Amino acid sequence: MPEESKRLIYMDHAGTTPVHPEVLEAMLLYFKEQFGNPSSIHTVGREAKGALEDARAQIAALVGAHQAEIIFTSGGTEADNMAIQGCAIANEKKGKHIITSAIEHHAVLDTCEYLAKRGWELTVLPVDRMGLVDPEDVRKAIRKDTVLITIMHGNNEIGTIEPVEEIGRIAREHGVYFHTDTVQTAGIVPIDVGKMNIDMLAISAHKMYGPKGVGALYVRSGVRITPLIYGGGQERKRRSGTENIPGIVGFGKAVELAIKEREQRAEHLISLRDRLIGGIFSTIDDVVLNGHPTQRLPNNANVCIKYVEGESMLLMLDMKGIAASSGSACTSGSLEPSHVLLAIGVTAEIAHGSLRFSPGRSNTVEDVDFVVEELPKIVERLRAMSPVTPRK
Ligand SMILES: *Cc1c(COP(=O)(O)O)cnc(C)c1O
Repeated sequence: MPEESKRLIYMDHAGTTPVHPEVLEAMLLYFKEQFGNPSSIHTVGREAKGALEDARAQIAALVGAHQAEIIFTSGGTEADNMAIQGCAIANEKKGKHIITSAIEHHAVLDTCEYLAKRGWELTVLPVDRMGLVDPEDVRKAIRKDTVLITIMHGNNEIGTIEPVEEIGRIAREHGVYFHTDTVQTAGIVPIDVGKMNIDMLAISAHKMYGPKGVGALYVRSGVRITPLIYGGGQERKRRSGTENIPGIVGFGKAVELAIKEREQRAEHLISLRDRLIGGIFSTIDDVVLNGHPTQRLPNNANVCIKYVEGESMLLMLDMKGIAASSGSACTSGSLEPSHVLLAIGVTAEIAHGSLRFSPGRSNTVEDVDFVVEELPKIVERLRAMSPVTPRK
């Protein structure tokens, strides 16, 4: 069926998203005519500065922040690093204890572990089988020398949405700074830094139909952070280097579209997600859903399919034109099961059979039905070859 094999069904939007056509359109102008450096005094520079500040206002609006509280970065990873290292270093005289969770993205976990090697103390909170952090555990972990709590909003692998509002309230009550990685939720789940008591928050453009290599950190006014990068003093001396204007303009446009279309997108994604999960469960035996059944990202369907390898399924899905991901895909090359699946109590053996589908705005019901048609055949073939499949 050559026709069918040409069809591409991209369901890995938690990994990255395609740039929205309107985003690309908005960016092109800033590669061509409006190429100015926003720090320049002349008209070309001032035009770039205007575009920079317009984008900043758009991103501030997405999370309920003030424009001056947004710092542009090279992406979510840099924003997480800046928040954690910057806050830890700026407050090291107050204390050197940091609280995080076992299911954070590596941009957070590895940054915390780096600080732990340099004299900070780290508490890594466990999660329950659904992937939830218990806010009471956060409260109990707070010490006199705790300066920072960093717990993500939506988990990129299993989709669980954490009770950040409650955690933020606890942090505030104890005078501890609260950072949250909202790379997976921004633009999909409503965020309000005031209501949720968030002091710092990381976002990335390429997870919301913007370009790669651009992100932002929100830092509540009054919260001190030490810069990671020194130089020309851009971004109010907090992140030096000439700003990536085309990328930032694209980011601003992506955010504008996300605000406008958020509800329709979420509704569409939830219906695709639930159809996919329902379809997988009704056609394949020995499957477990990873993550919370309801408190989860609209675009995340993560399952473990027993007696098969995630990687093998990915390759066979890819041959059918279906792009998905597996628990170890992020650190691919290694056969280590995902730290997130291990943290929710999935055994290493079962974790190897994990599959994550993350649909996006362009996916359709037909796409989901095609996956639900092809996946059982793939699983059946792989199980027939697998020595660990129980013979009935
Ligand atoms: C993708 C992702 C990041 C990293 O963002 P980049 O812009 O790719 O550096 C951080 N945290 C989460 C939860 C992510 O999904």
